[in-house]
Amino acid sequence: MKQKQQKRRKSSNVLLDTALQEFYGAADEMGLSERLISILSHSERRVHVSIPVEMDDGSVEVFDGYRVQHSTALGPSKGGIRYDTEVDMDECEALAMLMTWKCSLAGIPYGGGKGGICCDPLNMSKREKEKLTRTYAARIEPILGRWSDVPAPDMNTSGQEMVWILDTVSKMRGHLEPSILTGKPVAFWGSRGRNEATGRGVATCGLELMKAIGRNPDTATAAVQGFGNVGSYTAKTLNDAGVKIVAISDITGSYYSSNGIDIRKAFEAVHKHPKKLLEGFDKIGNCEKIENDLYADAEFLFPCARDGVINRKTAGKIKARYIIEGANGPTTPDAEEILQASGVMIVPDFLANSGGVIGSYFEWAQNLQGAFWSEEEYNSRLIHIMKGNFRRVWDYAEAKKVVMRRAATMTAIQRVADVVEMRGMFL
Ligand code: GLU
Repeated sequence: MKQKQQKRRKSSNVLLDTALQEFYGAADEMGLSERLISILSHSERRVHVSIPVEMDDGSVEVFDGYRVQHSTALGPSKGGIRYDTEVDMDECEALAMLMTWKCSLAGIPYGGGKGGICCDPLNMSKREKEKLTRTYAARIEPILGRWSDVPAPDMNTSGQEMVWILDTVSKMRGHLEPSILTGKPVAFWGSRGRNEATGRGVATCGLELMKAIGRNPDTATAAVQGFGNVGSYTAKTLNDAGVKIVAISDITGSYYSSNGIDIRKAFEAVHKHPKKLLEGFDKIGNCEKIENDLYADAEFLFPCARDGVINRKTAGKIKARYIIEGANGPTTPDAEEILQASGVMIVPDFLANSGGVIGSYFEWAQNLQGAFWSEEEYNSRLIHIMKGNFRRVWDYAEAKKVVMRRAATMTAIQRVADVVEMRGMFL
């Protein structure tokens, strides 16, 4: 039975609109049925909570918190919780959809989710952040569960926030629930290797790309935007493999050296800084400050900071020939068109940064068994899966003559669509 085309969703939020239009484009190219297009273009659940926090000065501020479960077709919805001033329901929905494709493509048994709180974490004390996190945890507790929704860290959150959430939920339920969250510290049910996993995976994709195009890492140059969890370990892993990192950056600015940045020194500088920033690194790191490391003279660019940075305004100034997306959604569709026209190749976010969630899957699986793997086992499994996934998308893109993002989206949608058909419509 042929179904007439349903009304297609549009959004004024750039990230959500991009996610929707990429989904529709890929779905049409695959010939996906209208039934499945309608189902998969909507999220199963969108939760909005208010979070009152008594601030250190005695005033009360009420923050908005969100958790979106885009799909639980393949398994529990999986995805991070971020703290940022830009967080809203649409952003979480876009990122949750991206997680559905990421988990599907990665071949792990999860659906996609994302959550966050609209706040300015860099200007909050630890006490304020603890109260914020615990009240958020209590308010989304009904939807969390090892078989329903399993969050992890994301932008501006880390193992500490995961422990606060885990502790709050465990106290409410009267028993410890280690497998409802991943990205926990190694000392408390975490996995050795998880902290570095996203960056290690991004770098692995970069190195596989170099292999595929016949480029020697020892003579390659790269710029890495962002020196948080993803960017720092991306830079370190690339550097350990012989790649010269000519530029790094964070919110304090971009730092450049044509001789290559000393990444170990950058780690030391960040470690010593009270807010874990690169501030002042030009003085101690033998490098200069530049306008924006996106435009640095490097062949490979790794945007590992935030969404939307490669846009209509910035795309034309990028010198790199290859972009490997460490952040979620760093390239807008109009920028992608500009870059494609000039022959720039992009390895899409949900392939390149899937090391984090693959590592999360390892942690969850270990928690369910009460077992612990060695760091070597964790890393070798991670790298093996990342290499295989890169190759699969590369080959599919070559065979179908489509760009890697389209190839990855189509592969990912197919698995979810097949399972929705098998399970039936009510999931
Ligand atoms: N926040 C990471 C991501 O966007 C990890 C998610 C997870 O491990 O659940 O992929």
